[in-house]
Amino acid sequence: MCLARTNWDVPKHRGLTVFMVPLEAEGIEVHRIEMLSGSKEFCQEYMTDVRIPDSDRIGEIDAGWTVGTRWMFHERLLLRSPYATLPAGSSRGGSRTEELLEVARDAGRLDDPLARDLIGEADTLELVKNALQQRVGQAMTTGAMTDQAASILRLMSGEVATRLTTIIYEMTGADGAAWDAEDGAVAECGTDFLMQQSYTIAGGTTEMARNTISERVLGMPRERSHDPNLAFRDVPRGAPTGG
Ligand SMILES: Cc1cc2nc3c(=O)[nH]c(=O)nc-3n(C[C@H](O)[C@H](O)[C@H](O)COP(=O)(O)OP(=O)(O)OC[C@H]3O[C@@H](n4cnc5c(N)ncnc54)[C@H](O)[C@@H]3O)c2cc1C
Repeated sequence: MCLARTNWDVPKHRGLTVFMVPLEAEGIEVHRIEMLSGSKEFCQEYMTDVRIPDSDRIGEIDAGWTVGTRWMFHERLLLRSPYATLPAGSSRGGSRTEELLEVARDAGRLDDPLARDLIGEADTLELVKNALQQRVGQAMTTGAMTDQAASILRLMSGEVATRLTTIIYEMTGADGAAWDAEDGAVAECGTDFLMQQSYTIAGGTTEMARNTISERVLGMPRERSHDPNLAFRDVPRGAPTGG
């Protein structure tokens, strides 16, 4: 899916169009990106003079923002709602408190008062997050809350996932950073920790979620725009990079 600038003479949210682009199309170059965790599933795609038939356009010409905001809405809703089938936040799936208990057991810390405090915090966070998901999910389904309330779920799940991943790592001690086969559930917690910040970024940052909540759920005044109604070509931008 490609959200492309198709008109430079209108404000930035207009003048975009969505296309389906086959990855094998001539002119597409895919470069893998290795993340901190060692995963190479991400990539950077370069498109040079790629030609696409109009039949592969989605939505109206220059109305791609409408298509884009709708798909972002579904992404937020799907990943954060109680009806989602995808795990939000855990790379291993399932409850993170259970994962934490396994880690505490394998790290030999079940009787450690500090560890028990962390387990209590994690359990409470997960409990509150799940209750919020149920409540906001139901309110959105019945129309008692606006669809934009999906951002509340996104904010909560991002903050909680980051904190839970940090707690799990804190539980492991040095074995979380360098492990061997005998370390059981402790192994690889360090790899998860390297990705912990991504939970507040991927799927839209938590700062943006806060903006959406304040403006579209609570009805507060819109954030000041620095380029109101400017044609996209006149929007101030930094110098081009890469020559
Ligand atoms: C692990 C991971 C997986 C991802 N998966 C996908 C994927 O599958 N598909 C996909 O399309 N994208 C994906 N992304 C990209 C992700 O959606 C973007 O990184 C994210 O939306 C943030 O956009 P950006 O990187 O352009 O940051 P920017 O928008 O440039 O923001 C930079 C910083 O400024 C802050 N900021 C920006 N504007 C405001 C504002 N108005 N008010 C307050 N703060 C602001 C942001 O919160 C952030 O901290 C993924 C990213 C990660 C890290």
